Amino acid sequence: MTIVAHTHQELRDAISASKSVGFVPTMGALHAGHCSLLAEARKENELVVLSIYVNPSQFGPNEDFDSYPRTFAEDKQKAESEGVDIIFAPTTEVVYPTGFSTTVNVAGVSEELCGGSRPGHFQGVATVVARLFGMVQPHRAYFGLKDLQQCMVLSRMVRDLAMPIEMKLCPTIREVDGLAMSSRNQYLSAEEREGAPLIFRSLVAVQTAFTSGEKSVPELCKVGREALSHLDGFELEYFEIRSVPNLERLAEIPSLADSLVGAKSAVLIAGKLGNTRLIDNLLLN
Ligand code: AMP
Repeated sequence: MTIVAHTHQELRDAISASKSVGFVPTMGALHAGHCSLLAEARKENELVVLSIYVNPSQFGPNEDFDSYPRTFAEDKQKAESEGVDIIFAPTTEVVYPTGFSTTVNVAGVSEELCGGSRPGHFQGVATVVARLFGMVQPHRAYFGLKDLQQCMVLSRMVRDLAMPIEMKLCPTIREVDGLAMSSRNQYLSAEEREGAPLIFRSLVAVQTAFTSGEKSVPELCKVGREALSHLDGFELEYFEIRSVPNLERLAEIPSLADSLVGAKSAVLIAGKLGNTRLIDNLLLN
């Protein structure tokens, strides 16, 4: 049976201290991407906690906070079928009680890419996740690599603040045509939805060029941008290849030998298809 907790006290009462806790923070509107995190958490922990909270502080003033899909009844059914023990669905008063005055800012890795186009976004994310970690006190926390920069920011936060939590970064789940699953995909018109897989295909084009021997970052980006130019109505925000985990600029992709000692890279994209902001990425080595 899945328990729904709305307050900090209800959450604490539902968690037994002796059990290992796996935590999956989300904003709800659950899809197969979220469910893959829940399934992974279910395998590795005695208790699985799912949080559903649309966090106002990670949305900019002209973003989709008000229209973000809220589908609690369907989410609860999906959580039940994934074997979730506790759904934590707090109100804003519970997450940010009167007098709340702390922010978590992870310098460097949060500043460019999505952090450049969405000022304050990662501060909102890091602050809410730190607060949720404090309330849930998980042993393991599960995040999707679909949001690669978010994974890097939060992993850095956990390391820097010595939070006793194991970060589990899980693969991106895609539709059959390659489009990364996202709660925002439901905003797309039929025509936009049909074109949207080109975003993933542009990443694959880069990966293909890379595996055929192209190492130059500007050349690889050119390949990707060319593929994307066939997507009508797409306004590109960035198309970049960066190091992983620090997301620094690169002139060349590290060689396979370097990647074996941890020098990895990824190609990342963000942009708006009509009014819908979409992101995706692919690890290159
Ligand atoms: P959100 O509800 O969008 O904040 O996402 C909650 C968690 O689900 C985050 O860790 C996301 O990275 C992860 N997630 C979202 N979409 C996907 C996907 N297509 N595949 C894997 N994980 C995902």
